[in-house]
Amino acid sequence: MAIHFWLFALRLIMAKTNISGWGNFPKTKAEVERPDSENEVRKLQQSVGIHIPRGAGRSYGDSSLSSTILESAKLNATLEFDSDKGIFTCQSGKMLNSILNEIVPKGYFLPVTPGTKFITVGGAIAADIHGKNHHVDGCFSQHVLWFNLMTADGTVRKCSRSENTELFWATCGGMGLTGFILEASFQLKRIETSKIINRTIKCENLDAVISKLLEHENYTYSVAWIDCAISGKNLGRSLLYLGEHATKAEVADDNLAAYKTPSPLIGFPFNLPNWTLNKWTVKAFNALYYGKVRQKDSTAVVDFGPYFYPLDIADNWNRLYGSNGFAQYQFVIPMEGAREGMNRIMQEIVKSGESSFLAVLKLFGEQNEGWLSFPKRGLQLALDFPINENSLALMNLLDDMVMGMDGRSYLAKDSRMKRAFFEASYPKLPQFKQLLSELDPNGKFRSLQSVRLGIT
Ligand SMILES: Cc1cc2nc3c(=O)[nH]c(=O)nc-3n(C[C@H](O)[C@H](O)[C@H](O)COP(=O)(O)OP(=O)(O)OC[C@H]3O[C@@H](n4cnc5c(N)ncnc54)[C@H](O)[C@@H]3O)c2cc1C
Repeated sequence: MAIHFWLFALRLIMAKTNISGWGNFPKTKAEVERPDSENEVRKLQQSVGIHIPRGAGRSYGDSSLSSTILESAKLNATLEFDSDKGIFTCQSGKMLNSILNEIVPKGYFLPVTPGTKFITVGGAIAADIHGKNHHVDGCFSQHVLWFNLMTADGTVRKCSRSENTELFWATCGGMGLTGFILEASFQLKRIETSKIINRTIKCENLDAVISKLLEHENYTYSVAWIDCAISGKNLGRSLLYLGEHATKAEVADDNLAAYKTPSPLIGFPFNLPNWTLNKWTVKAFNALYYGKVRQKDSTAVVDFGPYFYPLDIADNWNRLYGSNGFAQYQFVIPMEGAREGMNRIMQEIVKSGESSFLAVLKLFGEQNEGWLSFPKRGLQLALDFPINENSLALMNLLDDMVMGMDGRSYLAKDSRMKRAFFEASYPKLPQFKQLLSELDPNGKFRSLQSVRLGIT
């Protein structure tokens, strides 16, 4: 009897895996299950108790962490690709890089793509991801035709704009809390070549880049890299990247049919020391990066890979931040007051002595109907900070500032947001909680994030 008890206890201990999101903060131990069929998902959902779905684990914080995790890696089949209509239907664990391999040779691209292609369709819907074209094309959900969701009672519900509508909009941005997305169908975008016409504009400060972003709102893609290690009159100096898919007339010799996504060129097999990225290394890198662009306004034809996914060139680049991990602070503030607000926030960051290796400014279009969807009309900034006492204090201060500006922060990047800030900035949260209490009365779907923020 005793031996059976100890064997059982040992199995429990050994079955736990050390796991985290992309930021390596926080870390937890969890049982990770990888179901390979709808029935298996149902069986696990009924037997494991508290759990959360997980895709590729590229959300930064704790949204895909729980005591038990149902990972979609084995649910990765293409179910149908209608290459006449450009409609793609697949299981939720299908990765965007693998979708690109199927659709690009046939002249299609993803309607919305994040800054990495290593995420799943389930993760794209659950976070309602946005790309460099949000001001034109909105979020991923706006191109989703339907998905099948297994809710806590094991029922599979088809959700679309006309069927289970409330559940559709609660799930788009609902961070896996409404159920397990099994499969989804979405509309693709036509392209003629695999190239982007990339215009780069050098902007001497934050004011200049905001003006240029607004002036060039007609471009499909726009994003600015910001140097946030420099103060004074060059505070927020930037490189603004504008882009359009190149046509055949513009790039005659493109071999679209042979397209294959490249693998990362370099990798980091282990964590680098925690001090690797500090204000001096960031300052030096930024000066080189800004300085390498000589012309004020230049245009070049580039592959879409480096344009959309520059960070994918390195495997596990998150290890640059060391074993303490890092947090991405991504927020949006409404257009009115955005110029002054961004300036105040940048000044506070420079004053704190915390430098962000990556700082990306984007323009958002109108908010969609997703209940917890992040984007709304305004300017958004994303910053990466290594985890330490000073950066955590800075991010707490930024929460207060952004809240005062009627802004909000992105759940897919969050690992430490103040609960009061979250509650104040997502007005449909009470409606979301009400739906969860009906859908999942025993609170089976729970992540470390949903508990931390009081959603479940
Ligand atoms: C380098 C980099 C750049 C990025 N750039 C952007 C960007 O430009 N725009 C943007 O919006 N995001 C961006 N992200 C964030 C990323 O797109 C989102 O966090 C996305 O959700 C990650 O998908 P995933 O498959 O890794 O999901 P995970 O990180 O595993 O999970 C994310 C959430 O989705 C839920 N989920 C996953 N699968 C399912 C499922 N089958 N059913 C129900 N719920 C599910 C999880 O419970 C969790 O709440 C970036 C991330 C990285 C690392």
